[in-house]
Amino acid sequence: MAYNSTVADSAASLYASSDFQSFSWLEQQWVAWYVWIGNPVIATGLMSFLIHEIVYFGRSIPWIIIDSMPYFRKWKLQPNKIPTPEEQWQCTKQVLFSHFTIELPLIWLFHPTAEALGMQTYQVPFPSLKTMAPQVFLFFFFEDFFHFVAHQALHTGVLYKHIHKIHHKYSAPFGLAAEYAHPAEVFILGAGTILGPLIYCYFTQNLHIITVYVWIVLRLFQAIDAHSGYDFPWSLHNIVPFWSGAEHHDFHHMAFTNNFSTSFRWWDRIFGTDDKYRAYRARVKAQKAAMKNASKEQLVQLEQKLMAEVEAEGIRAEAEAEARGHFGSKAKVQ
Ligand SMILES: [Zn+2]
Ligand SMILES: [Zn+2]
Repeated sequence: MAYNSTVADSAASLYASSDFQSFSWLEQQWVAWYVWIGNPVIATGLMSFLIHEIVYFGRSIPWIIIDSMPYFRKWKLQPNKIPTPEEQWQCTKQVLFSHFTIELPLIWLFHPTAEALGMQTYQVPFPSLKTMAPQVFLFFFFEDFFHFVAHQALHTGVLYKHIHKIHHKYSAPFGLAAEYAHPAEVFILGAGTILGPLIYCYFTQNLHIITVYVWIVLRLFQAIDAHSGYDFPWSLHNIVPFWSGAEHHDFHHMAFTNNFSTSFRWWDRIFGTDDKYRAYRARVKAQKAAMKNASKEQLVQLEQKLMAEVEAEGIRAEAEAEARGHFGSKAKVQ
């Protein structure tokens, strides 16, 4: 380790041989933070927790405002299901509870683990964008596949009944619901976010924690936006066709099946776990085309009818998954 317990008394010694003039503004703030807190373990833990809270709730606020404005309904994927302020508050309380009771006690392990694996933490300068970009993409790729596999496992047997069912409370999700889940699920799926950087660091010995923060911030945006319930013409998946986005994940909540990955559409496509989703989209498109001269109300009615069919099927599928959660039972629910 590059420091010992005496560093707590003199954090500035971490940077004893550094030339402060050569640092960017952000790097200087970084140094100031570590010197101010005086203990790298606490400085890293606290910063990680604050970044998570600020980005999670900061990114959710625009979606709360959008949900309160009828103007945006035309882009809502399930326009008849708007979360009430009470639902949003209940969800916020639950998310905060798990942040404070699970994440906060564990977060102090982050700095020692990162250092033990050779990750740079308090050090400056930061790596260049050229170094960071491919690393962040790799973490996206790893997490997406990890989630694709683990999420499908969570849809089976006891794992669904006792763990993942909580996240499926909302058949029409909203931004704040991204992390509304059983603590065990937060732990299992959170591993996909954090294991990528740890494994990468172990093998390459070339990773700065700032890159991990960039990745986590982008991953939070991805997760919250995927749960927002809105698909705009300018949403990322309309520009980058393999990006999942809300249009992909909202169907998972509505239909209780298909679309298990987080960021990208390719694994669901390759393994055929998007068949019902694609059939549904094709059905909506075909029926809309067949009703070319229909009024706006008729089209809305049609879409609601098709949605209700998928949802009814989803309710049946969920009941079946839950029934299978009883050990040794092969019960089928009508
Ligand atoms: Zn699920
Ligand atoms: Zn979800």
